[in-house]
Amino acid sequence: MFYNSINNKLDVKKFIEIFFSSIPKNKTLFFPFKILKIKKETILKLKKLNYIDFAFSISRLFIDNILEEDLYNIIKISYKNFNFSSVLKIEKIFNNNYYLNLNNGPTLTFKDIAMIPLGNLLNFFSKKIDKNFLIFCATSGDTGSSANNSFKNFDKIKIFTFYPFNMISNIQRKQMTTLLKNNIKNISILGNFDTSQFLIKKIFENVKNNKKIYLISVNSINWFRILMQVIYYCYCSLNIYDKKKLNFFIPSGNFGNSLSAFISKKLGFPINKIITCTNDNFYLDNFIKNNNFNDCLIKKTIAPSIDISIPSNFLRVVSCLNIKKKKMNEINKNFFSDKVYNKYIINSIEYFYNKYKKIHDPHTITSLTSLIKNKKKNNVVVSTSYPIKFIFSIKKIIPNIKIKINIKKLFFLNEKYKIFSQNFSILINFIKKQI
Ligand SMILES: *Cc1c(COP(=O)(O)O)cnc(C)c1O
Repeated sequence: MFYNSINNKLDVKKFIEIFFSSIPKNKTLFFPFKILKIKKETILKLKKLNYIDFAFSISRLFIDNILEEDLYNIIKISYKNFNFSSVLKIEKIFNNNYYLNLNNGPTLTFKDIAMIPLGNLLNFFSKKIDKNFLIFCATSGDTGSSANNSFKNFDKIKIFTFYPFNMISNIQRKQMTTLLKNNIKNISILGNFDTSQFLIKKIFENVKNNKKIYLISVNSINWFRILMQVIYYCYCSLNIYDKKKLNFFIPSGNFGNSLSAFISKKLGFPINKIITCTNDNFYLDNFIKNNNFNDCLIKKTIAPSIDISIPSNFLRVVSCLNIKKKKMNEINKNFFSDKVYNKYIINSIEYFYNKYKKIHDPHTITSLTSLIKNKKKNNVVVSTSYPIKFIFSIKKIIPNIKIKINIKKLFFLNEKYKIFSQNFSILINFIKKQI
């Protein structure tokens, strides 16, 4: 499989080169040269496979330069600590719709499904090519805990996780900062998610790769993460499919999940529309509905993981569909969008609790609310987190709920992190000392 740059079609690379390309120059993102539709009979045959075999069958279409048995083993060990051997959990909900629960990995987020194999693949390469990897991660919540957990046991890998001070939930922070490992450095930035991303980009310009070290970014623009997420849309749509294609309602931030669903559709899996659901930070909604590219200031909401102004992955779709200004048909053939303001998120959490006695996290509730507003049948609500992580916000809405999952112990553990202003020279000195 070859990939080319979305800015320059003549810039062609192999999987392995993209895997190791850190934050690319000129914001270049790569996309498969061509995504071939898989034949319908072949797709239907895949339905018999378990998740591991299925994941292997899809990922080998995109990955070369690694022995098939190595790839298979990496996938297999990656999912051994999930709550279900099926990795995902698909439930039927009201009006014949479905609920796709992706949060069954060790840190209770869908991010685990891609981040754990990413860690294992990097560990595999770090031994083969004898290099130390420096991982950089900017997080608006769940990516950091998943990344820290996925890399914590690898001695040739050091991870720097940046998060906006006071802008993620207490539990999300504790999940990252209570892993007291020497190879994990938590960096709390006095700024927002975009500031963290900006600072990481500057670090990449300042610290160059050499014989010994190699810098890698594991944000959601990381192609391997997108690929591992494509798999669950293929698996889920195929397993639910019964004559009618499905619509996926996805709480969207940096657009990684929605891009993955789109690629799965291009591969020929039974997906109709992808509905991106946002909150008060509705850049995506503006673009998809009105072709309006206006940047807006980030507002803090109770759904912090989707408090993002410009979703980098969206550019991959724009490039793939070859969109020119005012030519929105191609986007609208594949995507719908919706926004749910903070006050409606709060109302909906209360509504679903009163009506179904079920508590939803503030991200998943955006997709549930959009579903109720828009469509009746053949829909899948994608759940991106568990309410337990946002328990303090939810308790303000429904005061008498109790914590059920065993996450209480987090509160008694020591935390390790360092707070930084936006002063770049102090930050870079700290990083250089750690290398
Ligand atoms: C990461 C995350 C999202 C956003 O996913 P994208 O792929 O960046 O669109 C949504 N909800 C939760 C809870 C997340 O952690």
